[in-house]
Amino acid sequence: MASIELVKLTKKFGSLVAVKEFDLEIKDKEFVALLGPSGCGKTTTMNMIAGIEAPSGGQILFDGRDVKAMAPNKRDVGFVFQNYAIFTHMTVEQNLAFGLRVRGVKRAESDRRVKEMAALMRLEDRLDWLTAKLSVNEMQKVAIGRSAITEPAIFLLDEPLSNLDAAFRAFMRTELKHLQHQFQQTMVYVTHDQIEAMSLADRIAVMDLGVLQQYGSPIEVYNQPCNTFVANFMGSPSMNLVPCRLSEGNGATSLDFDDAGVVVVDDDDLLRRCKGAREAGLLFGARPEDLDIAPPEYGGAGLAMTVSFVEPIGPRTIIHLSAGDRKVKVSKEKQYPIEFGAKVKVALPKGKCHLFDADSGRALGVE
Ligand code: ATP
Repeated sequence: MASIELVKLTKKFGSLVAVKEFDLEIKDKEFVALLGPSGCGKTTTMNMIAGIEAPSGGQILFDGRDVKAMAPNKRDVGFVFQNYAIFTHMTVEQNLAFGLRVRGVKRAESDRRVKEMAALMRLEDRLDWLTAKLSVNEMQKVAIGRSAITEPAIFLLDEPLSNLDAAFRAFMRTELKHLQHQFQQTMVYVTHDQIEAMSLADRIAVMDLGVLQQYGSPIEVYNQPCNTFVANFMGSPSMNLVPCRLSEGNGATSLDFDDAGVVVVDDDDLLRRCKGAREAGLLFGARPEDLDIAPPEYGGAGLAMTVSFVEPIGPRTIIHLSAGDRKVKVSKEKQYPIEFGAKVKVALPKGKCHLFDADSGRALGVE
């Protein structure tokens, strides 16, 4: 059993506040990703959970117990870093067995667990190799296996895949999921890669400048970003954020997109978001895959725009459109026949539009 609770966790380095009053609850056996750009405080948070770094304020609770006074080796925490921490003068087998030997695990049991981990990590045919002779990918597999084999209650992984090549990263994502399924550990995973966070985590904590921005399931965070930072950070291409003005008249609510035209809002969900919003300083938001391309004469809610660039990337076509300084990307499945310079309407989807305050970045009309 190992739930983790961070209460107003803070870390200062001199005048720099690296982590600010961070509240987070991680359930037993949950897989949580700390996601954010470089320097947002992810590693500092991990180091405090592991006991490597002392907090400047706040609490860290494991199963409700404050662990502040507990030494790192007493916390039952496994740690894997971006740069594989392994003994290069030892074989793969000796590396995998190391933690078990230190803990006094009997030889027969240790051999059984090493074999099991080697099979899980697909390292069976490398057991007698010196780790110095392994590829970078294999070294990181050894580092992960070496830490996981002692079955710590909490497993912390700090960008473990970021030095690996793309194909191997995809493979390792599946392996890590298997590992968690098998050992039922509470996992905290640091990454700046939103795809990795989305594909692995039960919940994602999005951080920026040491502050928690949003905490929720991948789909919640993707579909209902609480601010423009999260909207931008999740998704590739990221959410379209288009400046607009709100106007009310003749019983209708409209959004004025300047050169892209005035759109009468006929979507209850978007109307709810418009309620109480100020007139200017708004950003309309929509995911590229939620928008549609319609002919210029389309009569529904849509932006009048011109195709400025087409990216046929295989499984999808990314269509760039503009009208004056209003810019939008639309993502269509597979190959989509459209020409540079074509005049179209970008049709707005019902129930999938967002509205943000441009100054604060806050999403409007959501709790
Ligand atoms: P990255 O993905 O680049 O590792 P991160 O999100 O993990 O970034 P941290 O490494 O936690 O961010 O750093 C957060 C902030 O704290 C950064 O501004 C960093 O420069 C600063 N920082 C981290 N460790 C120290 C330290 N020991 N002394 C001074 N400043 C530090």
